[in-house]
Amino acid sequence: MVNKYLAEINKDFNNDIVKSLLSQANNLKIPIITNEGIHFLIQLIKIHSSKKVLEIGSAIGYSSILMALFTDVTITTIERDEKIAKLALKNIKKANLSNRINLIIADANNASIPEDDFDLIFIDAAKASYINFFDKFTKNLKSNGLIICDNLLFKGQVNEPELIKSRNRRQLVKKIDKFNQYLINQENFDSYIYNIGDGISISIKK
Ligand code: MG
Repeated sequence: MVNKYLAEINKDFNNDIVKSLLSQANNLKIPIITNEGIHFLIQLIKIHSSKKVLEIGSAIGYSSILMALFTDVTITTIERDEKIAKLALKNIKKANLSNRINLIIADANNASIPEDDFDLIFIDAAKASYINFFDKFTKNLKSNGLIICDNLLFKGQVNEPELIKSRNRRQLVKKIDKFNQYLINQENFDSYIYNIGDGISISIKK
């Protein structure tokens, strides 16, 4: 009920690029960040005055393109699936954002990024690798920089893995729970996990 009320009262991005990306994701069944999640992320970028963003997991470029459209950030984004990355590149070009979004086709587990001055890192990729991504890319983040992670509640399944029938899915959900505990216990970050979208965390580097 509350969700319906909010969906009615909040204004969506009224933009043709956004609409076409949403229908592309829907047609191809490629998961993208929730509507609430992307609004939250964009508001955070504005509050934090982030200028330089590193994104792990581009998918079709939806979150990168929206961040670039509605804030003034420049983005480096990494995608390991070549087919999807090529689609993202097309979308970025079509949105006229090739000068602000640099897409790297690579597995983020192996990719190395030379810059150490990112204001914000957004992790939205293979859930089983979140600990590795967090560990690995911390050095690329400025102090007072933010790490934002998506899908930490995994559709509300993270707190009751015993109810999940598929073994693979249960293992995955357990890994997310393990990551969440790891995240909260990182002493060089102030972290909190929110019940926003599919579960989003904010970690502030000390
Ligand atoms: Mg996601």
